Amino acid sequence: MRKINVFDTTLRDGEQSAGVNLNFQEKLEIAKQLERLGVDIIEAGFPASSQGDFASVKAIADTVKGSSITGLARSLERDIETTWEALKESAEPRIHVFIATSPIHMEYKLKMTPEQVIENAVAAVKLAKTRFPQVQWSAEDASRTELPFLAKIIRAVIDAGATVINLPDTVGYTTPYEIGQMFRYVSENVPNIDKAILSTHNHDDLGMAVANSLAAIQNGAGQVECTVNGIGERAGNAALEEIAVALNIRQDHYKADTGLVLKEIKRTSSLVSKLTGMVVPNNKAVVGANAFAHESGIHQDGVLKNKETYEIITPELVGVSSNRMVLGKHSGRHAFKEKLVELGFNGTDEQLQKTFVAFKDLADKKKDITEEDLFALMTEATVGSAIAHYELETLQVNYGTTNIPTATITMKLPTGETVQEAATGSGSVEAIYNTLERVIDEQILLMDYRIQSTTAGRDSLAEVYVTVQYDGTESSGRGTAHDVLEASAKAYINAVNRTINRKQFNEQRTNTVKI
Ligand SMILES: [Zn+2]
Repeated sequence: MRKINVFDTTLRDGEQSAGVNLNFQEKLEIAKQLERLGVDIIEAGFPASSQGDFASVKAIADTVKGSSITGLARSLERDIETTWEALKESAEPRIHVFIATSPIHMEYKLKMTPEQVIENAVAAVKLAKTRFPQVQWSAEDASRTELPFLAKIIRAVIDAGATVINLPDTVGYTTPYEIGQMFRYVSENVPNIDKAILSTHNHDDLGMAVANSLAAIQNGAGQVECTVNGIGERAGNAALEEIAVALNIRQDHYKADTGLVLKEIKRTSSLVSKLTGMVVPNNKAVVGANAFAHESGIHQDGVLKNKETYEIITPELVGVSSNRMVLGKHSGRHAFKEKLVELGFNGTDEQLQKTFVAFKDLADKKKDITEEDLFALMTEATVGSAIAHYELETLQVNYGTTNIPTATITMKLPTGETVQEAATGSGSVEAIYNTLERVIDEQILLMDYRIQSTTAGRDSLAEVYVTVQYDGTESSGRGTAHDVLEASAKAYINAVNRTINRKQFNEQRTNTVKI
């Protein structure tokens, strides 16, 4: 069985999805979960792009020791040195340098001749090698690069010290057959290819990212780059969970496997979905809500008699719980803490206390507390706590079918003082948002508003996701509460807090790159 290395780029390529902007704390939380999942390499960001990115890559490199941490760098001395500063304390420092190799990119974007591109790539790899034991080099737009040139430049960068060669389908253009041919050609025509691992990185513009990744693996790739839930620019990247489960279920065919802890897949997917605000469609393979639902009578009958009649993946394999009750109203602090640790909690005592108070509050309103509920409360307490500039204290809404909805809100300001405001709107949510705008005293535009429930049942927690335009930037926010109106208020305040936070810590991206 060949071992395929999993290179997760949720925090770099995934974070470039439109509308996604993770903060420092959230990136760290995702990285810890990726480590638990057993990901071999975590691409934590692009350190030279901003101070905020530098800080989060460094924090991940300093904290997460079970996975190799890498950062993206252009073929520039400044990028390579900055990346080294961010990663030097990591368990296995690794850099990811790249340059475009397709005729269209070399001529129009780089304005360089093919020979200049080779010189540049070799110099970058040589410089990187003076710092990093592991140097990954990527041929941006590899799938539209002429094969003899691709072989020539790969040979040169391996001689210069590259240990991983990544051939991305940057624009999501290739097909499984073509990508297989490319990997086979490189394997057969680069004389020193045995000194490096080949890697594949695919985008889903034509819906073939996972199929292309698997075809590359069949033709020599020993590393696969992907994101959780397939998030990423445009149509996204190849989905980590689909590749890992396809290799596992079809070992007979692929004769290759990842070392991932598959039962962590569902939790990883939920965390990424919650923190990015990118909802997983119900029909999504492996992690969608309907992925294991057998509705048709004939199917159900078959599944009841023998699961394997229609079910090729079991929910247990990827850690989908039966949504059973885990704690009740009378559960004590000790049982609560134990359950939280089992769910991966590793926060402070203060965060534990905050989660416990929220749990007791929820248990008064909801009969059965499930793992999903605890997970929502825990996430709220651990990643929500760092950014409370404005804080909701009380909310009251007056609504009736025949009167004008009115909201009254008490809020703690960043200065520490508490204010109370009231406003009306044509609906309850609008009344709340008009009131909040009055408190914050700046124009805030609501670009998107979405609501969903954490679990089934009418006593479920509500999760609201919003995107607002505030202080010149677009920002997303989320709020969880037992009541939809409170969750709506929290999501809006969260979006505003994030904007302030990003300005304070300079977490704003200055530039992004496509690979
Ligand atoms: Zn990409």
